Amino acid sequence: MIAMDNLMDKIVALAKRRGFMYPGSDLYGGVANTYDYGPMGVELLRNIKNLWWKYFVHQRADVVGLDASLISHQKIWEASGHTKGFADALIDCKNCKLRIRADHLIENYLEEHDTDDLLNLIEAFDKGQIEDLKKAVETKKVEGLSSGRLDEIIGIFKIPCPNCKKHDFTKVRKFNLLFPVQLGIVEGDQSLAYLRGETAQGMFVNFKNVVDSTRVRLPFGIAQLGKSFRNEITPGNSVFRTLEFEQGEIEYFFDPDATNWETLFEDWKKDMWDFATKGLGIKEENLRWREHSDEERSFYSKRTEDLEYKFPFGFKELWGLAYRTNYDLTQHQEASKKDLTIVDPITNKKILPHVIEPAVGINRLLLMVLVDSFKQDEKRTVLSISPKLAPVKVAVFPLLANKPDLVEKAKEIYLDLKSKISGFVALDARGNIGKRYLAQDEVGTPFCITVDFQTLEDQTVTIRDRDTTEQVRIKIENLYSYLSDKLKI
Ligand code: ATP
Repeated sequence: MIAMDNLMDKIVALAKRRGFMYPGSDLYGGVANTYDYGPMGVELLRNIKNLWWKYFVHQRADVVGLDASLISHQKIWEASGHTKGFADALIDCKNCKLRIRADHLIENYLEEHDTDDLLNLIEAFDKGQIEDLKKAVETKKVEGLSSGRLDEIIGIFKIPCPNCKKHDFTKVRKFNLLFPVQLGIVEGDQSLAYLRGETAQGMFVNFKNVVDSTRVRLPFGIAQLGKSFRNEITPGNSVFRTLEFEQGEIEYFFDPDATNWETLFEDWKKDMWDFATKGLGIKEENLRWREHSDEERSFYSKRTEDLEYKFPFGFKELWGLAYRTNYDLTQHQEASKKDLTIVDPITNKKILPHVIEPAVGINRLLLMVLVDSFKQDEKRTVLSISPKLAPVKVAVFPLLANKPDLVEKAKEIYLDLKSKISGFVALDARGNIGKRYLAQDEVGTPFCITVDFQTLEDQTVTIRDRDTTEQVRIKIENLYSYLSDKLKI
């Protein structure tokens, strides 16, 4: 039986108690929207990243990797449009000083209220051009609306501050999300650089380098997995939205005259869905696709869809898929005044390739995995994580901690498995055996091996399955092949 109420609170508490993630800089009062990953979290994060890399780079013949610098030239972000357009519309409560994203304030309000009541209010407000407002109410989304329109919506509905419940806001203002960094000792424009706001630009500015230094041919992708930085202000919801996060992005370059973008788009949708369901083991009923409306979509994109996950705080974007045309390469070609076209070896045609971009936040994947696998009943709390992702693959216990023969044998098995299994293997002799099982269930360890008195007689051990709690007894010499088959290692 899954206890769904307060699910987020339970997950946040479990994550801290069992070493998945801790609030960042906790010792000194914290830095909002930052997290540190503990011994369990770092394993889970790494397993997700490795699986992503395996799935989208190593197992494909048409994708190569890249690891670009986090500190990058200001001109990259000017050319990409981020210094101007990469901004959140923020609003301050004059009463309690809460600063909040205007789109979040409105969308949460729209979610919580009856659509027909809201439409009636809009009708009464203005008989003029209200189609965009109506659409916002119907779709519960306001992306793409101007700051002025957001101000109007907040005014029409007299939306209260979620903190102090007063309706007394400043006007909506735009705040840029990029983190500037000052290089060297000279302050001023020359020394200004930015921490990258997305990994994608690394692929565009290195496009020519990759083409010139490898044997790639269109269509092909460049993949990158690494930190991005955004000066976000939205608090809460654990690692869903943080100031720095791991992004996994692929720019898939193609010639639109030779490759049908719609087919390519559908292929990527399928690959993303497969990774989430078969790779990460997420339940299909908790995932859905949502296509961006014309207002929401960037002006250069021909189609954008989000893969959304049903978090306890609603269906939210997990993974974006966008057909960005050749907007980015065009921008960089113009700004850098360097020719970024490539020549088709057969037709000799010059091509500035188009891209389809799947972009995901690995930390959001991690939060999704925790939410999707969390189970609780009267007896125990279990993370039913796919064995591929589990932070601890196997735990080995001596039945009793005060019997040197048992402890010695358990240690021997532990060291042997540790040398063979790719992943974390634990040895635990603390507390009673029941408590040890419960502790491993909470972090999602798929198998626990117990060394008991019979082990000393016949060289067999018990293996307990996390999900069924059933135990089987097998010979020590067969342990590794049994586990490698079940763990898919
Ligand atoms: P959102 O609308 O949630 O701010 P976005 O549309 O700005 O996201 P993209 O720029 O498309 O996001 O980034 C791709 C992915 O990176 C997102 O789908 C999300 O999983 C992740 N992501 C973006 N911003 C953050 C953040 N601040 N913290 C964690 N993950 C993030």
